[in-house]
Amino acid sequence: YSVVDDPTSDSVHQLVEHFPLCMQHLYQNLCENLHLKHFARIQFNLFLKGIGLTVDEALAFWKKSFSNIDDAKFQKDYAYNIRHNYGAEGKRQDYKPLNCMSIITKQRPNTGQIHGCPFREFSPTNLRSKLVQMGVRNEEHIREILSLTDREHYQVACTKYFEITKGLLDDNDENMIETIEHPNEYLKASISLKKN
Ligand code: SF4
Repeated sequence: YSVVDDPTSDSVHQLVEHFPLCMQHLYQNLCENLHLKHFARIQFNLFLKGIGLTVDEALAFWKKSFSNIDDAKFQKDYAYNIRHNYGAEGKRQDYKPLNCMSIITKQRPNTGQIHGCPFREFSPTNLRSKLVQMGVRNEEHIREILSLTDREHYQVACTKYFEITKGLLDDNDENMIETIEHPNEYLKASISLKKN
């Protein structure tokens, strides 16, 4: 899925505009709270891996992001798991970036957890606010997305969100995309659109 040449810990901040809503949400929370809980970290860390960050760049990203945690605590409580996702610890399993189906169906968030897919997990009121915050202001567009999530078509809702926010409103537009299956695929589609 890598679409950026040699991405560094700093590249992440420049790519935010291309993130799908799930990763936008995690990123915003990370910036506000200087922390993410376990499953949110795994979801976001594997997304970074999918962008092409090396394990050292991923560690640098998390270290800078958890700016109120000292190095000893970071190494003790977080670095192992970050390396583990990269297959650099434990059984050395090379974990793949999570696809939408895994994010939507597995390890769904409990109260106080923010990982998962916003189209699946947010209440209609919260999703509406989030959409408005992200620039979806047209009431018809908002209703269309809410209706899709209500019918449990979460990935179709995400695809519709992509099309609306990218201004792809004509069904015959050559840039129209297939239904989103993977957050890194969303990022890739967004970057290629900008390049065109
Ligand atoms: Fe993320 Fe996939 Fe949900 Fe879109 S459908 S927000 S890419 S998990």
